[in-house]
Amino acid sequence: MSRYLTNPLIFNGLLFVALVLVFGLAERRWRARPIPWRSVLVADIAATLFYVVIVAQAAQFLNRWIAVRGPWPALLGEWPLWARLVLYLVVADFGAYWIHRLVHLRPFWRVHRWHHLPTRMYWLAGTRSSILQQTLFNLPYIFASPLLDVSPWWIASGLFALMAVTNSWMHMNVRWQLGWLDWFLVTPRSHEIHHSDRPEHYQSNFGVLLSVWDRLFGTFCSPRQVDASALRFGISDKVPLARLTIGL
Ligand SMILES: [Zn+2]
Ligand SMILES: [Zn+2]
Repeated sequence: MSRYLTNPLIFNGLLFVALVLVFGLAERRWRARPIPWRSVLVADIAATLFYVVIVAQAAQFLNRWIAVRGPWPALLGEWPLWARLVLYLVVADFGAYWIHRLVHLRPFWRVHRWHHLPTRMYWLAGTRSSILQQTLFNLPYIFASPLLDVSPWWIASGLFALMAVTNSWMHMNVRWQLGWLDWFLVTPRSHEIHHSDRPEHYQSNFGVLLSVWDRLFGTFCSPRQVDASALRFGISDKVPLARLTIGL
């Protein structure tokens, strides 16, 4: 079993099929906005392939020089796996929140703008990540990684799958009202506000997994305060695709 799941081709293939089945079918049943599939699907599948084949590998290569592993006390290595996993996710997510805020500052915006390019939100639309964006977003996960140095073989694959699920989840195009979940998790309703093209939404909802950071640091915009049907997405920047994908 581990032989097949550690093969990147088989693992990514199975993961993509699972995402299509779960998120694709859920959106088919509870879709909020119509999607012009012909004009978005080819570009989004190409962006996903580009991410797996180029972006993830290039970022991993750059992270060999640009990364710091946290100096965690050896005592933490004796904690049970579940406790180390929770600490890893909280620490890495806290870092991801601040990296996300950083790339929305004017000098770094070019690193992140490809992610905000899509004018339609649905589960596959959030797949765009430039090489430099991915390199920066990997940093907090690498910093927290010593917490999981001693763990079963499936943890690395499981965490990669969790990131893919989280990313698909937050970009979903569904009409669910998830008021209670918005309080601690990033939801499709809160993240679509982050993608809004209205200036008053530019500095809101930077969370990746947990929404508590937005609440703590004053960047949370509740979906209850926003008319979802009036939201429009995308950016006005006109930049060649090569620069968007690198993040320059
Ligand atoms: Zn953003
Ligand atoms: Zn997004």
